[in-house]
Amino acid sequence: MAELNPFKIAQQQLDEAAKKLGLDAATHEFLRWPQREFRFTIPVKMDNGRTRVFHAYRVQYNSARGPTKGGLRWHPDETIDTVRALAAWMTWKCAVVNIPLGGGKGGVTCNPKEMTETEKERLARAYMRAVARQLGVHRDVPAPDVYTNPQIMAWMMDEFEIIHGESHPGVITGKPIAIGGSQGRGDATARGGVYCVREACKKTGLDPAKASYAIQGFGNAGQYAATLHKEILGGGKLVAVSDSRGGVINKDGIDPDEIVRYKLESGKVEGFPGTTPISNEDLLELDVDIMYPAALEGVITERNAGNIKSKLICELANGPTTPAADEILHKKGNLVLPDFMANAGGVTVSYFEQVQNTYNYYWDLPDVHRQLDRRMTEAFNAVYDTHKKANAHMRLAAYMVSVTRVAEACKLRGWV
Ligand code: NAD
Repeated sequence: MAELNPFKIAQQQLDEAAKKLGLDAATHEFLRWPQREFRFTIPVKMDNGRTRVFHAYRVQYNSARGPTKGGLRWHPDETIDTVRALAAWMTWKCAVVNIPLGGGKGGVTCNPKEMTETEKERLARAYMRAVARQLGVHRDVPAPDVYTNPQIMAWMMDEFEIIHGESHPGVITGKPIAIGGSQGRGDATARGGVYCVREACKKTGLDPAKASYAIQGFGNAGQYAATLHKEILGGGKLVAVSDSRGGVINKDGIDPDEIVRYKLESGKVEGFPGTTPISNEDLLELDVDIMYPAALEGVITERNAGNIKSKLICELANGPTTPAADEILHKKGNLVLPDFMANAGGVTVSYFEQVQNTYNYYWDLPDVHRQLDRRMTEAFNAVYDTHKKANAHMRLAAYMVSVTRVAEACKLRGWV
């Protein structure tokens, strides 16, 4: 269905912002499309001796503000349109946190769960050979995304260095620390979200140390959100968490460190001592001050938005709220911290990794945290001010901030 095509959704979101901003027609049209896209067929010799041909993509959506940047996904459902949409969203994400990068994305249609480590290594190196001429710290820089990881980044960086015969650690981010990764990348997404929550509490008068919170999704982003909320915001009461198997609740509070330990040991949150079960749907409608959706897209919709009670919704997941739900929440006064701002901490620390690689000097963890805090705080304030001045919901306000910045760069270059 056309309305479910992610690239069509990305274009519609841009259209709404362009209309609100009164963007001129040429700039609007230019920003609706990727500047460059590459498609590759990649033959890879599998362990059984047979050759399989993989379809792969790299989209460089917009480079007006700097080299393009964005993850590489390996997924069975990957299509050129998912990669285009994600590349567009990376453009707006980098612009909202005001880092000097454009947006890009890559993908390979494959099922890594059915591949051995040696097959993955051959695919990673073959993808890099196909795309190497388009990449580089001054061109386009990939990073890990769905089903890719630091080891895959390491193989790809190594292949690029073999091709060029010299060191190029900045060609890719999300690398292991031993070969040029940055301190602080692991928890950066959740940390950036918690910084946004802290700033939103200042604006709304909510005391985060006394606020209750719940988390949907208890993977990388959700687990770090649980513990960093307590650490950075001086307390708060974690009431419920969930994962794909279901959720648990204790209205008197759950110890974030204990439940993270339990999840890491048992692989689930179900059965955590002192809690009772709760469904993922009911968790979202709990009467808690702050909600962190950290699992899937499309969980807050027209159907349940009217029942959402949280004053603050910090979207660590990509796309948890549908456009219709955004309007309902805005009218009801729930403040949404939109995904491409709230979860931009990851790409921000990836940018720091690129910077450190380029001057071959590495920062301490407190330096990473300080710089991340500054970027996230400034992004939140720019979006919040626009939300107030334009009476736009927070996602539209975030688009307005980003599109204004990218459009200005395009104009200054004389492109439009
Ligand atoms: P992850 O795979 O580590 O964790 C996902 C969690 O969601 C798991 O605990 C899983 O059990 C749970 N889950 C799956 N289906 C669920 C369901 N129906 N209901 C409730 N929980 C369910 O992934 P992650 O890295 O934590 O990413 C989570 C979200 O955050 C994704 O939308 C991702 O795109 C987004 N995100 C992550 C990062 C990052 O740096 N990790 C950066 C930007 C955005």
